[in-house]
Amino acid sequence: VGSRLICAGCGTEPSEAFAWRCPKANGDDVDHVIRRVLDDAAFAPTADEQPFLRYRGQLRSWHVASDRGMPAAEHEGLVTGLDRAVGEVDGTGFLVTPFGRADELSARLGFAAGGGVWIKDETGNVSGSHKGRHLFGLMTDLLVAEQLGLLEGSRPPLAIASCGNAALAAATVAAAARWPIRVFVPVDGDPVVIERLVGLDAAVVRCPREPGVAGDPTFHALRAELADGAVPFTCQGTENGLAIEGGMTLGYEVAEALGGAGADHVVVQVGGGALATAVAGGLREAGLQGTRVHTVQTEGAAPLARASERVATRAATDGVDAAMRYARAHRTEFMWPWEETPRSVATGILDDETYDWAATVEVMLRTGGHAEVVSEERLRAANALGFETTGIPADHTGTAGLAGLLSLRDRRLVGDGDRVVVLFTGVRRNTGDPRSRGGSR
Ligand SMILES: [Zn+2]
Repeated sequence: VGSRLICAGCGTEPSEAFAWRCPKANGDDVDHVIRRVLDDAAFAPTADEQPFLRYRGQLRSWHVASDRGMPAAEHEGLVTGLDRAVGEVDGTGFLVTPFGRADELSARLGFAAGGGVWIKDETGNVSGSHKGRHLFGLMTDLLVAEQLGLLEGSRPPLAIASCGNAALAAATVAAAARWPIRVFVPVDGDPVVIERLVGLDAAVVRCPREPGVAGDPTFHALRAELADGAVPFTCQGTENGLAIEGGMTLGYEVAEALGGAGADHVVVQVGGGALATAVAGGLREAGLQGTRVHTVQTEGAAPLARASERVATRAATDGVDAAMRYARAHRTEFMWPWEETPRSVATGILDDETYDWAATVEVMLRTGGHAEVVSEERLRAANALGFETTGIPADHTGTAGLAGLLSLRDRRLVGDGDRVVVLFTGVRRNTGDPRSRGGSR
């Protein structure tokens, strides 16, 4: 045994080896989210360059496989085979992505020599973003479950609600495994993305927004599909708690590269909250508990900042433990869908609910982080500055963390000598834009 699954909301430990959702999640106000907890805190990367081999000792699929007598070479073979297939579909498999101090950007932002901005570049990752990490991890779980005979009958279909990087990553990984997938998209979804999804053999379902119904219509459709037995192949921890684990590889990579010097801050863009939850968890498991975790949302949709303020108010009198216990038991007092239809140039962080809000709020409270909310003007300025100084062709969602850093610098919450990590998460896709990624993949 190397790990356990436990619901962060109610404490239930599911009996299945792989449980996507809490068995007690049935419409009460508790924030049920399955979380993978390690029994052994050792962080011991291997020499592999493939993150899911390098950090296999952290992974649920590795623990379940070894508990049930699957030879180590067989687990490695499943990961390697899936990665090779991803490479055939996408042109690249998963490798530790580039990370380093952005010297020109650091100088422009007035950092001293010891401090600065370190950028993790995910724009060249599988399907052009970090999202594939979450889904490759889930697919590894599914393949191990299948191999161990834990899936009943034929392969259950996969389902996701997205028309952006998450959908592209999900369809790419599903195609690599030749596993059927349905993708629920909004009626005004990006035609370039939809064309690519169809090209990856995903079944695309358009979902109109219904008047008077709050919340994302694609999410409502996803819920119905899951009720029919589909596997939540999503980056939302509420639907599939194990999705967080694959994203933690990002935190492991950052922590390993920083070494003993660590970082004072990490600034993470938040849509559904899985990235922030995963990065914070990865840093923690790799030994960087002290890094301040800040989040960034747009003025177009900031449900996490709203929730964070409410929990912080409670924590000021009751303490963090009691405030978080209360918040997880009374979800709707803290998190509900953003009332207006959200709009922003950063389309990837417009989720009208922050699904993984509780873990993110908690880590901000415990590390002294802030929930920044930035303007459209700032999102544009950060994107231009990021490209000009680093040459990394990230989109506005991808550079939203930098927008948050600009805000934190303005508010003097990040000092000149501080070490800051920012994630450039998604590549620009406008093919007419000469600065977007060229023909490399
Ligand atoms: Zn629960």
